[in-house]
Amino acid sequence: KLHNIVQETKGNIRVFCRCRPLSKVETSSGFKCVVDFDGANDGDIGIMNGGTTKKTFKFDRVYTPKDDQAEVYADASPLVTSVLDGYNVCIFAYGQTGTGKTFTMEGTERNRGVNYRTLEELFKIAEERKDTVTYNISVSVLEVYNEQIRDLLATSPSSKKLEIKQAGEGSHHVPGIVEAKVEDINEVWDVLQTGSNSRAVGSNNVNEHSSRSHCMLCIMVRAKNLINGDCTRSKLWLVDLAGSERLAKTDAQGDRLKEAQNINRSLSALGDVISALASRSSHIPYRNSKLTHLLQDSLGGDSKALMFVQISPSDNDASETLSSLNFASRVR
Ligand code: ADP
Ligand code: MG
Repeated sequence: KLHNIVQETKGNIRVFCRCRPLSKVETSSGFKCVVDFDGANDGDIGIMNGGTTKKTFKFDRVYTPKDDQAEVYADASPLVTSVLDGYNVCIFAYGQTGTGKTFTMEGTERNRGVNYRTLEELFKIAEERKDTVTYNISVSVLEVYNEQIRDLLATSPSSKKLEIKQAGEGSHHVPGIVEAKVEDINEVWDVLQTGSNSRAVGSNNVNEHSSRSHCMLCIMVRAKNLINGDCTRSKLWLVDLAGSERLAKTDAQGDRLKEAQNINRSLSALGDVISALASRSSHIPYRNSKLTHLLQDSLGGDSKALMFVQISPSDNDASETLSSLNFASRVR
């Protein structure tokens, strides 16, 4: 099935749409589901607009609230494992706060998400290939907040500003950032938890803070082919983007306004880069945000990208849902 998807999609960008279940609070408040999943198997999704009209969208994949973490990961798996064959890959979750971006990427201890499952599979394949290829896998976890990069694995907070440097063609990196070497899957959950926990440091509200920053996990793979001696390096970015919701008019001042403008700018920069790639434009505007600049090696060229557009089923969120689906259609 995924082979068809690869051929059908322009460029190397796929878009999967995932809708979370209606929450207990929404149900008890009388909110209704406005999403039509009848065409979900064909990648079609419809949003009922006031009961009479329906706006439909087409994606490479549509997940209903019943689809679980394993089903979602199964479709992403061929893409993530291509990093072991030397491809750069980028996966991100886009959507309004509360739609399941963190659930899809990080997941929970019982319902582990794409990040953990990815590393688990990379280790499994590396083990299977150990007679022919030696893999070195390391991870960095960082956050982009108000156009500033913060190293979430740094043990002591550094006052030094982290910047992106270009070391050669297709090789961007952040000097000074921690690259934690991981040897097996048991080390991974701890490293991911360390990163996730340090997002909270210095902010009074963890959830609010994480909805306003991009959380980025970078998996670096160095491979040495034991038969022909070839060495390759590749990178896989797994990104939990800042919430895409528009700012309430009442909040349009001070720090809140600045945060919102930075989020807006970086998410539109991401949209601009992806649509420039899809239309095979000669200029790809990577430099317009820290987010796209960091992802530069993994977006475009022969790298592969996947976007999860996360939505809420509730009528209460319908206008944000439509705006997310419009954004996602634009990049497809
Ligand atoms: P976001 O990161 O986009 O703000 P979260 O991942 O925090 O959203 O999800 C909001 C809430 O909805 C969480 O309690 C999460 O566990 C729940 N949730 C999200 N997606 C699903 C899903 N597919 N199935 C069950 N619960 C979900
Ligand atoms: Mg989140």
